[in-house]
Amino acid sequence: AGRTRVVVAGGGYAGLSAFGELADRGPRLELLLVSATPYHYFVTEFPALVAGGVEEEGVRVSLRRFVAARGRLVVGSVDRVEPGPRRLVLAGGESLPYDYLILAVGGEAEFFRIPGAREHGLEVGNPAAARQLAARVAGLVEGGGPRRVVIAGGGLTGVEVAGELAERYPDRLQITVVEAAPALMPGFDPILAREAQRVLEEKGVRVRTGTKIVSVDPAHVHVEQGPALPYDLLVWAGGVRGSPVLARSGLPVTPRGRVKVDPLLRAEGFPEIYVAGDAASFTDPATGQELPPSAQLAVQMGRHAARNLLRRLAGRDEVPFQPRLLGAFATLGGREAVGYVGAGRFTGLPAVVIKRLIEAHHAVETGGLIPVLARYARPWARRL
Ligand code: NAD
Repeated sequence: AGRTRVVVAGGGYAGLSAFGELADRGPRLELLLVSATPYHYFVTEFPALVAGGVEEEGVRVSLRRFVAARGRLVVGSVDRVEPGPRRLVLAGGESLPYDYLILAVGGEAEFFRIPGAREHGLEVGNPAAARQLAARVAGLVEGGGPRRVVIAGGGLTGVEVAGELAERYPDRLQITVVEAAPALMPGFDPILAREAQRVLEEKGVRVRTGTKIVSVDPAHVHVEQGPALPYDLLVWAGGVRGSPVLARSGLPVTPRGRVKVDPLLRAEGFPEIYVAGDAASFTDPATGQELPPSAQLAVQMGRHAARNLLRRLAGRDEVPFQPRLLGAFATLGGREAVGYVGAGRFTGLPAVVIKRLIEAHHAVETGGLIPVLARYARPWARRL
């Protein structure tokens, strides 16, 4: 018999940590990494990318270099999984058989079927969308006069994009964040969320909480509370859902399109498929709540799924996943950020520094020290 063939689908935070774990700790497995692009993107830095604060080359690392001799990289987008015959089918028709699959294909923007939202709103969360949004922002600020940017959704994505845009283009962009909940960043530390709002308003951002978007036309955002808001650019930061690949594959999904996984991170009813990251709906036994999509948890899930598979291949018992949300940080542009680690709250420059350290740590783990130094040296070099 040949070697056990493990396919890791997805080159994001979850897929990369799963692949790294299997390659470094595993026995002689046949390993494949499937990714829509030949790069791993630091999605946490997309708000800065969108605002033109960093170049695309600075927020990605080569998957070819990452995979190297440890396995094979297949560049192609996943169309579906066929669990019966155990194969992953790519959009081009290529079919990749597997013995075990780690499914980490992430998510996409959630538009909640709000009329006009998908047609007119620009997303942040994937490389092609972020590139397009960055180009639109660059085009917008070139023209004369201030331009109106409406950001739909005041979660962490919306808040970070607002902060980065306001920092870079204080005079050119008139930014409004529209959030349905009574406060920004629902679910985040409320004191820090208030501080984030204060910082944004100080930068000239208008914050409209308690305001629900009900429809979008080419020039206005219509809200339940008050008159329509005119815009030149609409950024859609209203939330994320699981990739359409998941439901298309016949896997058990939640209303938000994520695969229900058991405590071991296996898809319910499909024990040879592990699911990690934004593609997975995991109920935290400690809180009874579904875990939020997060890079930090995606890394933990990917690593855990890989370790469980290795335990299984070695004939040992698998271990339930125990998430550890160590903290969270939101950058607000320039020297402003808010975040917490355990019970400690941070704002301003200390928060910026901690956030940068977290990002640098991830970059070192995935890409090595040199690309990271190159990336961090670049903004300084420009300032000299
Ligand atoms: P989200 O779901 O957290 O936030 C979306 C926001 O849009 C919500 O506050 C929601 O109330 C609002 N919204 C939805 N529909 C609306 C409507 N019709 N009208 C007005 N407001 C509406 O999505 P996100 O901000 O993209 O974040 C996704 C996940 O990624 C979250 O779990 C988040 O914590 C995480 N994230 C983390 C960071 C970080 O750690 N720095 C950054 C970005 C995202």
